[in-house]
Amino acid sequence: MSNNKYKVLVVEDESNIRSFMRTILEANEYQVLLAGTCRQGEMMFTSHQPDLVILDLGLPDRDGLEFISFARHTSAVPVIVLSARANESDKVEALDQGANDYITKPFGTAELLARVRAALRNSRHSQEMGAVPGGKFILKDMEIDYDRRLVLIGGREVKLTQTEYNIVTILSEHAGKVMTYAAIIQAVWGNADSGSIKKLQVNMANIRKKLAEKPGDNRYIVNELGVGYRMHEG
Ligand code: CA
Repeated sequence: MSNNKYKVLVVEDESNIRSFMRTILEANEYQVLLAGTCRQGEMMFTSHQPDLVILDLGLPDRDGLEFISFARHTSAVPVIVLSARANESDKVEALDQGANDYITKPFGTAELLARVRAALRNSRHSQEMGAVPGGKFILKDMEIDYDRRLVLIGGREVKLTQTEYNIVTILSEHAGKVMTYAAIIQAVWGNADSGSIKKLQVNMANIRKKLAEKPGDNRYIVNELGVGYRMHEG
């Protein structure tokens, strides 16, 4: 399917980054709208109803977080936050407020396009109301068979507990997109308590061991330190 029906609104005050984004996105057949301030972004958002927003958090007139709450009043459009901030808590705050993902500056072409693709695909996925995952997810030599509830590496079954399987499945359903610790905990256990993050970390350590993923290897799952986990796109 061609991308050309997707309208991407970029809200960013640095003109060199704006033109970099325009060049890359237009070359990949996205339609691009540019705004330099939060206020301008909100007006364009209302009048053009984009399919995706790429939002800088550090805008001259207002904090980018205000744009997210503005957009979330009326729309579930995917928002990718662009941040120069090294502070992980800002990213978590943006994700908690309704952003779908983030990119840390400086970023490259491949990363930008991968995030855009994943955000658009994830938003289509969530529009399929109540769709039960079926079929297979394939990432390198790993295969998730949703119907049989199996994970295979190189055709051999990996023995996972129910909880471990659920975590892997949730990450695969959102492949390419970061999932915060809180979002994974909510999806797997339904509620959080003080031990939840520790419980998640223990499960993740076991999953990585069983997938034979060495620390720093990031073959299937990336640990976004202080934020959450991201499975690569299949
Ligand atoms: Ca800025």
